[in-house]
Amino acid sequence: MKTLCASLRINVLGSKGVGKSAITVRYLTRRFIGEYSSGLDISYQSTFTHGDTPIKLDLLDVSSQDEYQAVCHDLYDADAFVVVYSVTDKGSFKVAQKEVEMIRSRTPSETPILLLGNKLDLEHVRTVPREEILRVKEAYGCAHTEVSAAECPVMIVNGIHALILDAVSSLGH
Ligand code: GDP
Ligand code: MG
Repeated sequence: MKTLCASLRINVLGSKGVGKSAITVRYLTRRFIGEYSSGLDISYQSTFTHGDTPIKLDLLDVSSQDEYQAVCHDLYDADAFVVVYSVTDKGSFKVAQKEVEMIRSRTPSETPILLLGNKLDLEHVRTVPREEILRVKEAYGCAHTEVSAAECPVMIVNGIHALILDAVSSLGH
């Protein structure tokens, strides 16, 4: 029997410029603005309705780090994580892999992670090999999808909703 939780915290991690803010704002407003302020972690509150039950969402759009570093512990204090890389930036995928490793080492093993490739509209200049993504996805048990925050919100919304349902389910166990 699964128990629904009243609130969920989701942290959005990844390197600078991959589109974390674009994805977060797309999810919350369905809009793509183009330029987003950086330098501050921004916490957004929203509600997701599961059946008849409203779930309070606390989404943290983490400010970018230029390179991976052992950052504050509370970045890894969440019920679920979106880890973003850009399909055009191999370095951003390395950062994403390290973020996933950090999450797996600091949170319960069933914590849901959505490994999210962004900028799919720039597929023609992809530098992140699909085999590498598959390897990380399978090694760390992540969900995975690729999206374009610039062009289409649907996959973002679907991916985050699936993550929320996973988080609700794993908290209920
Ligand atoms: P963050 O540093 O990870 O929060 O990245 P931002 O959300 O600020 O986005 C960085 C830049 O990438 C901005 O100029 C966005 O307009 C651009 N961007 C974000 N998503 C996409 C996308 O899906 N496609 C393209 N072509 N550009 C994007
Ligand atoms: Mg940002």
